[in-house]
Amino acid sequence: MKRAVLVSRCLLGYKCRWDGKRLEDNRLIDLKGTEIIPICPEMDGGLPSPRAAAGIVSGDGFDVLDGKSSVVDIDGQDVTDNYLRGAQSALNTALREGSTTAYLKENSPSCGVNRIVNNDRKLPGIGVTAALLKRHGIRLESS
Ligand code: SF4
Repeated sequence: MKRAVLVSRCLLGYKCRWDGKRLEDNRLIDLKGTEIIPICPEMDGGLPSPRAAAGIVSGDGFDVLDGKSSVVDIDGQDVTDNYLRGAQSALNTALREGSTTAYLKENSPSCGVNRIVNNDRKLPGIGVTAALLKRHGIRLESS
């Protein structure tokens, strides 16, 4: 049976990003021999594309999961619930599909594994979905 891997949908060429554009470079690693399961936590959490860019107010995704921080977009709208819903959706998908690995896009307040972005600043830290998956033992890779 093929190994099921969750993959950030924008890395697969879908126009699901905040700016509604397709990623220009194809950063997808070799996932031959795997079953790819596309996820976009922000859209799966109810946000449209395009949408206002958003960032974690302080800390990182773990702080959002723990209720110590929130996610706010550039219009000042609190989108924390959307981010939490999207993260839970990704976890539910991983559990349902028996996926133990996720390949996620860096520099995202949802999917970032090592870096998140806020107001065009790249910061060290983990996004909300990546943090929830990590807490449940899902191995994270990133691009
Ligand atoms: Fe969706 Fe994650 Fe890509 Fe953002 S980085 S567009 S949340 S898949």
